[in-house]
Amino acid sequence: MKKILITGGAGFIGHNLAREALAAGHEVRILDDLSNGYRDNLDGLDVDFREASLLDEEAVGSAVKGVDSIVHLGALGSVPRSIKDPLRSHHANATGTLTLLDRARRADVTHVMCASSSSVYGMNPALPKNEREWVRPMSPYAVSKLATEQYTLAFQQSYGFETLAFRFFNVYGPGQRAGHVYAAVIPTWIDAALNGRPLFVNGDGSNSRDFTYVGTVCEVLLSAAERRTSHPEPVNLAFGTNTTLAQLIAELQAALEFPVQLQFREPRPGDVPHSQAENEALRSLIPGIEPTQLAEGLRHTVDWFQQTIERKSR
Ligand code: NAD
Repeated sequence: MKKILITGGAGFIGHNLAREALAAGHEVRILDDLSNGYRDNLDGLDVDFREASLLDEEAVGSAVKGVDSIVHLGALGSVPRSIKDPLRSHHANATGTLTLLDRARRADVTHVMCASSSSVYGMNPALPKNEREWVRPMSPYAVSKLATEQYTLAFQQSYGFETLAFRFFNVYGPGQRAGHVYAAVIPTWIDAALNGRPLFVNGDGSNSRDFTYVGTVCEVLLSAAERRTSHPEPVNLAFGTNTTLAQLIAELQAALEFPVQLQFREPRPGDVPHSQAENEALRSLIPGIEPTQLAEGLRHTVDWFQQTIERKSR
């Protein structure tokens, strides 16, 4: 049994991880300022919840005390949000990470995993992306994620931390909400389809992404927490699929069991055209993970949306 602090634990990936960690017998503490998370995500979960910002040094200092591992997911996501308000993203993602690491250091908590992003590769056209490829972020969000991972890795060299800096690609699954301006593509499309609205496609549908089901991400994070896995370089957390948006629409229609309407529009600034991971490092550090396939993951996600709609209509 481990004591795990999850920053951003009231968010999409964080609350899924909290549930899986509890189910595996671990103790969970959460630090989240609810700027993009939801307290009700944690309903029914026996967690020690601290509502506070990563920028609140005292609250962070208290949250790190006595834990075995930190999974640092707390951040303001979304490329467009960071283009609109780059300072806010920088504060939460870069300064927030450094604050957490510094407080962890003072409390002698030395196993830290963080969530970086495939967006750090930015203008690098190489496919698939290897972790040693050059990075060239195209948005303030991507820069702030580079800061997140590089600060975390530097603490390994400077203070003897055991760290894992994961570069998440496109994570999706139950609990990822639609209905806000910065929502990700899969929940936005499922929500539109279930409510009879067209799906907006940015670009011509040929853009591709390496989608990873949230359950698979949680399995990786928990396995790493349990074994205190550490690595001196960033690690792609994805499984090397490159699904075009057009293919995603076809898979989504199969999961929904009805056809959807499409509306095409201009590509968004800061969005990279293609994204696909090389994952040899992940496979060797966390062996034996069998990723959930897109068709199955989409079925679970559609089920969650349908159950949520039913609950609300009761
Ligand atoms: P999310 O927005 O659902 O969760 C992030 C959580 O962090 C939210 O609950 C939010 O309230 C909290 N938070 C934000 N600023 C904070 C602050 N200053 N102090 C404390 N808490 C704060 O996002 P998610 O999809 O669950 O992503 C989790 C992590 O993974 C993020 O770091 C994100 O950048 C990274 N990531 C996600 C994806 C993806 O596809 N979902 C891809 C790449 C990287």
